[in-house]
Amino acid sequence: MYINNGRLYILSAPSGTGKTTISGEILKSIPHMKGSVSFTTRQPRAGERNDIDYTFISVEAFHHMLQAGEFIESAEVHGNYYGTSIKRIKEIQEGGSDVLLDIDTHGAKQIRARHIDATYIFILPPSLEALRERLYKRNLDDEKSIIRRLAKAKDEIRECLFYDYIIVNDDLRRAVDGLKAIILSGRLRADCLNADWFEGKFGIQ
Ligand code: 5GP
Repeated sequence: MYINNGRLYILSAPSGTGKTTISGEILKSIPHMKGSVSFTTRQPRAGERNDIDYTFISVEAFHHMLQAGEFIESAEVHGNYYGTSIKRIKEIQEGGSDVLLDIDTHGAKQIRARHIDATYIFILPPSLEALRERLYKRNLDDEKSIIRRLAKAKDEIRECLFYDYIIVNDDLRRAVDGLKAIILSGRLRADCLNADWFEGKFGIQ
C-alpha cells in the first residue's frame, strides 16, 4: 500500500533534445518510477533491444492492436507508427509505480482529450540551431531524416505552451534535477493521496 496513487507523467520533446538521456536518468534514480515500453513499426537502431527500448512490430500487427483499442494513444512520427499500450500503463500503476511516457505532441494531445489526469512536461533545446548541431553530431540519422526532424521540431515546439512544465535542456544535470523536482513534488500532492492508505493509517475516510 502506497501513500499516493501512481501518476502519469507525459514527456515530449523534439528529437535530439536529450529526452531519452533525461528520462533514462529519471528511471534510474527515482524509485517506483517506470517507463512504459511503446510499440512501434520503426526498424530497431543499432543497440536497441526488443521489449526494452520498444516492442518492434509489423504495420499489420500495429493496425490490429489499434482496431482492438489497445492503445491509450498512437501517432505516426517520421513515417513510422508508435503506440502506448493501455495494459502496460495499468500494470505499472497497479504495481504501485508512477509512469513516465516518452511520447510526441500528437500522442500527448490525445491523452489530454481523454481527460486523463496526468502531468505534461515539455523539454526544449537551448535553440533551434543547437538542436540542428546535436542531430548532426549524434550521427543516428541521414541528412534527409534530419531535415524532416527539424521541420517537425518547430511544429512541436509551438505545442509546448499547452504543457504544465517546460524544461530547457541547456545543462543535462539541471534538466534532470528540474524533472526530478516536478515528479517528487507530484508525489506530495494532496489530490494524489491513496484513500485506502489514509484510512488504514488514520481511520479517516
Ligand atoms: P524515436 O523513433 O526517435 O525513438 O522516437 C521518435 C518520436 O516518437 C519521439 O518524439 C518519441 O517521443 C515518439 N514516441 C515514442 N514512442 C511513442 C508512443 O508510444 N507514442 C507517441 N505518440 N509517440 C512516441
